[in-house]
This record gives sequence, structure tokens and C-alpha cells, in this order.
Amino acid sequence: MKGLGFQPNSLDAIRAKGSARRTFSDIQVAHGIVDGSGKRVLIEFNKDGTLSFSANATPDIIRICTDLNATPTGRQQLKNAINSPVRVSLQIQNVVKPYGSGGYVFGETPQGNSQNPKGNYSKYVDEKGRYGITEAKVTIYEGSIKRAIASGSRLKLECLTLEEAIGTVAAHELVHATDAVEIDKDLKYLQKNQNTDKKHRPDGEKKAETVEEQVMLELRKQNPR
Ligand SMILES: [Zn+2]
Repeated sequence: MKGLGFQPNSLDAIRAKGSARRTFSDIQVAHGIVDGSGKRVLIEFNKDGTLSFSANATPDIIRICTDLNATPTGRQQLKNAINSPVRVSLQIQNVVKPYGSGGYVFGETPQGNSQNPKGNYSKYVDEKGRYGITEAKVTIYEGSIKRAIASGSRLKLECLTLEEAIGTVAAHELVHATDAVEIDKDLKYLQKNQNTDKKHRPDGEKKAETVEEQVMLELRKQNPR
């Protein structure tokens, strides 16, 4: 962000530079889940319900994908990520991130890449005027999740197992990372409000929360507690 003409979260760069316009076929190249160096991780769905990973899958990727695979809705989110044109990186940090009074941030997914000014912060507009991203970095905060699953936390993840909760949070975050309709709306809102402190679309969590609730419903059905 050093003295750049554009805000990392703004799409101005895209408007200003014709080179940012990409054709749909450019964008259609599947990337899906990638390792730390941006290389695609291959994930196979085995007949017995388990997953197989290419050798470059990190322990965090294996853990998050396995947790997603535990429910039908989580598995669908995983498939969406695998088939997405967005390069999705997945990591877990064992930190506690407080939020508001008594709450926690469980996961975060910046759309695009604020460290990539030359590449328009990894954002683009396609020929139909839809806004999109070429990369998204999902971070899951395991420390926050551990606090929330503890009995008596009175938080929504209360009483899930750690892996169940990670799968739930990951399913939520993957909506922000790969849902093209949501990303288009998020980026257009950001663009419209770039000179204000409004950064988040008022209904920007709706879809992600619906997915998250569906995963929790399925977990409770599979494993009544
Ligand atoms: Zn969210």
C-alpha cells in the first residue's frame, strides 16, 4: 500500500487500465485450491467417502478439506472451491481474535490480494460487467474456535467438536472466496462506497450464514447431542 494510486480494496485500477479486462475464457481456467506457492492441489473424492490429495497439499489444506467433507453442504462448498476459477488458499492460525464484546472472529477471507497492485489487486471485470477475483486467502482462527466450542460459551459453535467447527467456518468462508454472485455484489458495493468507511455490504453475510447454518444442521442430524 506504499503510495499507490489506488486503494487495495478499490476497483479503480481496473477501470483505469484496459489491460485488466479479461475475456471470459481467460477467467474460466480452473484453479481451485492452491498451495503456498500458488500451485493447484489436486483433490480426489474416493468411493469410500474419503479424500485423496496431491503431494503438495499442506496439513492445513488436508485438515480443512476433510472437515468440509463431513457434511453434504460442506462437501458442496469444497467442490465449488475445487472447480472455482479463483485460486483459493486455505490456512489455519491457532490464534484468538476477539470481536466486539465477547465475540470472536472465526475466519477471514480477503477477496483479491492487497499485495498485488500491479495485478489490480487480483480483481477484474469481465466482458459482461461482472466483477470477480482471481485469488482469495481463507484463514481459519483455531484459537477463536476453541473458545467458541467450549460448553457455556453461548456462541453459535458451542458444543461442536473442533473439527466440526472448522468445517462449519470453512464452509462459510468459501462463500466469500468462490461464490461469483456474492463476490460481484461485494466488490460493486466496495467500489460504490470506496471513499466512505462502509466496507461490508449490509447483506454480505446472509448467504455465508445460511450455508454455515445448514452445515450445523447436518452435523446435529448426523451426530445428535
Ligand atoms: Zn463471513
